[in-house]
Amino acid sequence: MLSINEIRKQFPVLDQHVYGKPLVYFDNAATTQKPLCVIERERDYYLHENCNIHRGVHYLSQKATEAYEHARQTVADFVNAKEAREIIFTRGTTESLNLLATAFEHLDCFVPRNDAKRLKVLVTAMEHHSNLVPWQQMVQRNGGELLVLPMDNKGVLDLEQYEKLLQECPKVVSIAHISNVLGTINPIKQMIAMAHNYDIPVVIDGAQSIAHQPIDVQDLDCDFFVFSGHKMYAPMGIGGLYGKAEWLEKLPPYQFGGEMVDTVSFEKTTFNVLPYKFEAGTPNVGAALGLETAIQFLQNLDRKAVEEHENQLLQFAIKQLSEIEGIRFIGEAEQRSGLVSFIIEGIHPYDLGTLIDKMGVAVRTGHHCAEPVMTHFGIPGTVRASFALYNTLEEVEIFVKAVKKAAMMLR
Ligand code: PMP
Repeated sequence: MLSINEIRKQFPVLDQHVYGKPLVYFDNAATTQKPLCVIERERDYYLHENCNIHRGVHYLSQKATEAYEHARQTVADFVNAKEAREIIFTRGTTESLNLLATAFEHLDCFVPRNDAKRLKVLVTAMEHHSNLVPWQQMVQRNGGELLVLPMDNKGVLDLEQYEKLLQECPKVVSIAHISNVLGTINPIKQMIAMAHNYDIPVVIDGAQSIAHQPIDVQDLDCDFFVFSGHKMYAPMGIGGLYGKAEWLEKLPPYQFGGEMVDTVSFEKTTFNVLPYKFEAGTPNVGAALGLETAIQFLQNLDRKAVEEHENQLLQFAIKQLSEIEGIRFIGEAEQRSGLVSFIIEGIHPYDLGTLIDKMGVAVRTGHHCAEPVMTHFGIPGTVRASFALYNTLEEVEIFVKAVKKAAMMLR
């Protein structure tokens, strides 16, 4: 059993009033709040351990280096990577995806020199801009083509079409594990296996899944898995890229500078081994240690119970919201995770979001960095409520009441 009351004590930020009303924080898909243990770990680092890593012979530098590499091992264990060198620390999902798009672009033989038409990358119709624009820009720079796997009106991907698109021989497939707008949990294990039948590597955007379900990259057999710390109770400015060692060995570096080199002369540079080849410059050590603590925080909880709790919040919210006249849910897949997106006929999502904010309820409105999804559904945006492990059924009630009241005022 989860004790939500105990858990909430770890999140003092939740215990406040906004506009005189108790805060209900339902914007967790944008970023989660941070538990005290994470905040204290980062503070402790700056109080006692702060130092640049890998380069110093002195005590503090060695201590900070050890702590940073320990954090890498913790991340590797958390996603069940075979080796710690398969984990690259980045600023988050966006940087990880830019790293991959750029590295693939510069991989010899990847961009066919005399036949640009053969350069194709396959994404899905429900991607966040972070998993769309880097690939789109990369293929466009090289005269290639972005293939887009369609979805239906419930927000479910078309797997028959997927098989056909794989036969067009994309060089990479990049798919969201969970859609940040629709909440759809995509059948990624099956999709990875299908792509591997054609020897196509698969990137999984795990930004919305890592906090909500255990990830096992070996079981999934994905070639890459990317995520952001700040969506899993860790600090901002840190995240990760898992890559199979054989792929990371093959890919060229993304950024150049200190740490990622082996030897340098004016004529020639050789590069460091994994994972350092992809970590140019001074990393965000404090945040990496905060990420490690966030992982330990999650590991100390019954993760099955967390999943069930978040699902209970979701089902309750859907049931209660369904009573509202003119409501339209955006995303109705059977397999879905803890968020609900909707619009109410005749009401702009922005107006609804602004009004319920004044009632203490924080939700996100707009296109959620997924404009093509809005185009698909023919809407300007949605209201999105997204849940985390510290949210309660009482908060869902307050939220639904606020939505009902705002809808009445706006009609
Ligand atoms: N992909 C998905 C599915 C997301 O939800 C987000 C964040 N909303 C991102 C990518 C980008 O993450 P970040 O801004 O942390 O880099």
